[in-house]
Amino acid sequence: MNRYTMLELIKNFFTEEECADALKEINLSQPLWKKCVDTDMYVLGNSFLRNQTQEYFNKHTVDSATVELFRKKISSLFQQEVKFCQTLSRPGFQIIKRNESNKPCVWHYDTILVRFPYNRDFLDYENFDNYFENYYVFGLMLSTGLSSFDYFPETQSNFSSIKSGTPLCENHHDLVGDECGNPNCKLIKFNTVEYTQGSLLIQSKKILHRVGIKDIDGTKEQRMTLQAYGVVKNDIMYLIW
Ligand SMILES: [Zn+2]
Repeated sequence: MNRYTMLELIKNFFTEEECADALKEINLSQPLWKKCVDTDMYVLGNSFLRNQTQEYFNKHTVDSATVELFRKKISSLFQQEVKFCQTLSRPGFQIIKRNESNKPCVWHYDTILVRFPYNRDFLDYENFDNYFENYYVFGLMLSTGLSSFDYFPETQSNFSSIKSGTPLCENHHDLVGDECGNPNCKLIKFNTVEYTQGSLLIQSKKILHRVGIKDIDGTKEQRMTLQAYGVVKNDIMYLIW
């Protein structure tokens, strides 16, 4: 299956019961949650973006029934073999407390996708450009209630190791809030995708986005997602984080 749209939302990718099991698993592992110093969000698992220390390569064997179920379901959705890597870490979880700071809603591009040390698992890998047949960014909503994702559609481009010529506002990158201070800013109104428990958001373009700002609503509920990147080589998709 090929996908060319920038964003796609698949509802009920996980059933209510599967989400409940996932939440149970995440909550049982609460002592292992790590707070990200840059964004104030919590991470369960081993994220290359959130933990770029030397520990990354020794911690990839986190065993999660939810992540294994996700792999199987992605495989049937894409009708493709889906594997984990030997060295790069498996997908994990992101937890956001809705009554803490707005920092989890920082505007960003998922440029980490081009920066993984892919040569650890792909021996002929040299450069991201043209190496993979396809790539995706996955976010699966596990918690209940309405959640959202904000983005600027006009910022979309393909992931590339070379900076693309897409017009954008440099000030908006890494911005928390909406006051970028650039008098010539062309980013006026963002779009919002709303998603509910069990929905899978698939991003297949590089796009300026953030966790929906209205998700920090002051309630004590937590916003929990499974996060993964998928890269396709020789018709096999590899899930990493
Ligand atoms: Zn701006």
